[in-house]
Amino acid sequence: TCWTTEPERWVTIDHSALAHNIHTIAQWVKPAQVMAVVKADGYGHGAVEVAQTAVAAGATWLGTAHVTEALKLREAGITAPLLAWLHTIRTPFRAAIEHNIDIGVSGPELDAVAEAARNADLPARVHLKIDTGLSRNGAVPEIWDDLCKRASELQQAGIVRVVGVFTHFANADDPDGDTDVDIQLRLYHAAVETARKHGLTVDVRHVANSPALLARPDTHLDMVRAGVAIYGLSPFADRTAEDLGLRPVMSFGTTVANNKPADIGTGVSYGYAYRCELPTRLALIPAGYADGVPRTAIGAPVWIDGKFYRVAGTIAMDQFVVDLQTDRNDEATAPVGTEVELFGQKSGISSDAWAIAAGTINYELVTRIGCRVPRIHK
Ligand code: PLP
Repeated sequence: TCWTTEPERWVTIDHSALAHNIHTIAQWVKPAQVMAVVKADGYGHGAVEVAQTAVAAGATWLGTAHVTEALKLREAGITAPLLAWLHTIRTPFRAAIEHNIDIGVSGPELDAVAEAARNADLPARVHLKIDTGLSRNGAVPEIWDDLCKRASELQQAGIVRVVGVFTHFANADDPDGDTDVDIQLRLYHAAVETARKHGLTVDVRHVANSPALLARPDTHLDMVRAGVAIYGLSPFADRTAEDLGLRPVMSFGTTVANNKPADIGTGVSYGYAYRCELPTRLALIPAGYADGVPRTAIGAPVWIDGKFYRVAGTIAMDQFVVDLQTDRNDEATAPVGTEVELFGQKSGISSDAWAIAAGTINYELVTRIGCRVPRIHK
């Protein structure tokens, strides 16, 4: 066939970096356990592959938002304890119970979970979620006592088994957010006390996301839920992954698709947000917002075979342009086929640099890499 076997644009996933990050976090939080959070296709890195490496490297739990994401891990043969926490009236709770997936319960889903457990003739393993101040999911303190009472009755009837109690922080990544963390933590510990008064043992207490586990050892408790940090990304605006001893896992590469001369004043890409200030050459990079390269990341750094350039003009659906800032007759700089890296290990460019240029955060950047971009696992 005429199909090429080499990808034209790709992200590589470095599993030794992933294992290093898991190991580093596990050592740091010991004796607390590590849940590797692999929702959103492992933050864009490939959920099944990430889960396999994470478990081999010392994560003892896995976490997803959706039950359907958790079921995909079970289908792939992953047997580690697994929690899913964001549900709707359409969530397949019975399948979750039959596949030994723990269910986060904020309140509205408790009846449906109990009914699914009765139908499956198996107890549902649940983690009750308290909203201590993020105002997303979780039971507010006013209804917490009632939720614990109902869960306790269902536990006594053998219909559910309450494994854990959890919450999620609003401001753990903020250097000024310590007071908010303190308030949420206090409410959380009170909620655990209430659950225990209702006869629930609460074996697994878990509250810490990446910023909390890195900045606040008092949040480690029995388990941490580590997302962005396992991918070697910093959750803090003022600290890099390197500062934290983490290694970025994802690199985004492609090759130069075109290289041509341009005169002074030449407008580049839709809307001419960039005009050449000198006679120069322009390189065409064949990755765009359909591939997850943010449209607004004008000025983001780009590595082309060892040299650093910047995105010139608006990023389009499939492509963007780099001003090579070289003589317009210099055909030797970045010829067609030269390797390009947007961010990653060859360039040392962090996805943070792209996120900052686009006015977003590294979390969003990596989770939005498009399905046209194959993940190469190394
Ligand atoms: N726990 C819950 C409930 C989450 O929703 C998330 C992700 O947003 C995480 C843990 C992981 O967060 P982070 O990526 O900051 O570690």
